[in-house]
Amino acid sequence: MTSESGTTLFLSLLAIWVSLQVWLARRQIDHVVANRNVVPLAFRNAISAEAHAKAADYTCAKQRFGLWQFGFGVLMLLAWTLGGGLAALNTTLLGFFGGDVATSGDLAYQVTLLLAFGLIGGLLDLPFDWYYNFRIEERFGFNRMTQRIWFVDLLKNLLVSLLIGAPLIAVVLWLMGTAGPAWWLWAWGFWMAFNLLLMVVYPLFIAPLFNEFKPLADEALAARVKALMDRCGFSAKGLFVMDGSKRSAQSNAYFTGIGHSKRVVFYDTLLARLSPGEVEAVLAHELGHFHHKHIIKMIVQIFLMSLLGLAALGFLAQQPEFYLGLGVTPNDNAANDGLALALFTLVLPCVSFVLAPLSSRASRRHEFQADAYAKANANGDELASALVKLTEDNASTLTPDPLYVAFNYSHPPMVERIAAIKAG
Ligand SMILES: [Zn+2]
Repeated sequence: MTSESGTTLFLSLLAIWVSLQVWLARRQIDHVVANRNVVPLAFRNAISAEAHAKAADYTCAKQRFGLWQFGFGVLMLLAWTLGGGLAALNTTLLGFFGGDVATSGDLAYQVTLLLAFGLIGGLLDLPFDWYYNFRIEERFGFNRMTQRIWFVDLLKNLLVSLLIGAPLIAVVLWLMGTAGPAWWLWAWGFWMAFNLLLMVVYPLFIAPLFNEFKPLADEALAARVKALMDRCGFSAKGLFVMDGSKRSAQSNAYFTGIGHSKRVVFYDTLLARLSPGEVEAVLAHELGHFHHKHIIKMIVQIFLMSLLGLAALGFLAQQPEFYLGLGVTPNDNAANDGLALALFTLVLPCVSFVLAPLSSRASRRHEFQADAYAKANANGDELASALVKLTEDNASTLTPDPLYVAFNYSHPPMVERIAAIKAG
């Protein structure tokens, strides 16, 4: 393959990816707008016409904003690659580290290249994040964040990313440089060990940097919850209440962690809104994820995809056309692994989107299983009424486009979930 055909392949994949994303987003907007004024039959008693219309407007506002952000991301991708951005950054850093990088510390130059690349990308994305929180979420009454919280979050995120990211990048680059042709297999082993460690460390040490986690205080509710956990064979230490109201009026519950860091987290906003029976049903749903070993299944899925990705990177990093086709001239007297990693992260979404329907479908199947578990171990009617409240409070649309759902929804549409809970 020549570098020209490399460029052609890249632009073709990009065109397919962009057209598909835009087409799906347009479909979603059209579908939601078309159903804006009619509440689905099964929800007529539970969701008002105003709430239904608000959900439609909110969904469309987010979708339109997402399209702008996506468009900007595509421009940035072109600027980094064919526009010469990454090549310019590389030349600048090579100049900074001195002509012969190998003697002045090859690894330092490469780590700096990737950190600078990540930092610039993150900075360019900041205005979008700000606008999303303080304009869109604000307009629909969901934002509870002050500018100060937003800024402090930003600094904390930066610090955590540097502390974790820099050593991680250094190890991967070191493996790429020293482990021979099968470096990607070693890097995979390391990456997997890192991910497992992160699953233990994240709930215990990182999430508490951003939110406060407390054991459930309401004693009557705690007793009820404990009875359910005992029934389901789940350690009672694993239930926490998080101050989600610090940032958003929306509510949620999630399960996380492995081993001793395994836990179910409730937003304080959710507890304020649901009855004890509904809380029990939602908790039973989360326990269903543990019962069906959904975390382990997700880990296996991530392991397989990472192996595939790293094997592809192992091959591509050896091909001069990979660099040249993406607008970067490989270094003569310095390693190219940093460049290969940057280019790979840039172009990966143009290829990996084909897997989205598969992983979304697996995730939706897990949600149905967790709902069935909740119905068997708590109460189906309570679960249904809790889900309807969450749908209304979070302004989730009841009428998504089916194709958009197939690609992007990690949770089944509420109409399908409620129907499955009510059936049988
Ligand atoms: Zn779930």
